[in-house]
Amino acid sequence: MNDLRNELTLLRDLGYTHLDIPKPAPVAKADDDSDSAKLLAELEAIATVCVKCKLATTRTQVVYGVGNPNADLMFVGEAPGRDEDLQGQPFVGRAGQLLTDIIKAMKLTRDDVYIANVIKCRPPDNRNPEPDELDACRPWIRRQVEIIQPKVIVVLGRFALQSLTEKAYGITSARGQWLDYNGVKVMPTYHPAYLLRNPAAKKDVWADMKKVMTELGME
Ligand code: URA
Repeated sequence: MNDLRNELTLLRDLGYTHLDIPKPAPVAKADDDSDSAKLLAELEAIATVCVKCKLATTRTQVVYGVGNPNADLMFVGEAPGRDEDLQGQPFVGRAGQLLTDIIKAMKLTRDDVYIANVIKCRPPDNRNPEPDELDACRPWIRRQVEIIQPKVIVVLGRFALQSLTEKAYGITSARGQWLDYNGVKVMPTYHPAYLLRNPAAKKDVWADMKKVMTELGME
């Protein structure tokens, strides 16, 4: 019952009324049958037909999120790029390869963690997400965090940091410092796309990931 109420609250937050709730796509069969996996699959089915902002008219598909529905560690990025829009998975392009390498360096795999973005549809030409798009999409990432209940969220870059926390943090001053999001520890760090342009900043990100590993008892 609580779950149903949560989903109805989400739909209300997204601005749907009983008249325009879209017909969900068939629920994808989750590999794992935990409550979190089922809830995420149901939400993803609803998200696939979301039309709450203008990105719905230009996307190929919604990029909802991938990984372990019960992960202790979540990575939250900005928005899908071209590769993600085509493949339907977050962080699978060049920046994604770097994120995957960072995850491997932490002695984890992409299947151990959960990876999502604050914006679920590709902004055309990879432009920055606009405030109305960030507002329209925020309920999805909020609900993903509520369902997964990670111990730590690593937010990648300014847009992810500002949209999740709804605070005007700068990424350079906030990175490496623990923040709180509804009782979950948040570690802001640089976006992998920034690291592709500024490889010297990789050492800062690694220092941030070491704090995360210590917090999760991984070293
Ligand atoms: N950049 C992001 O922020 N997210 C992706 O999924 C890909 C690139």
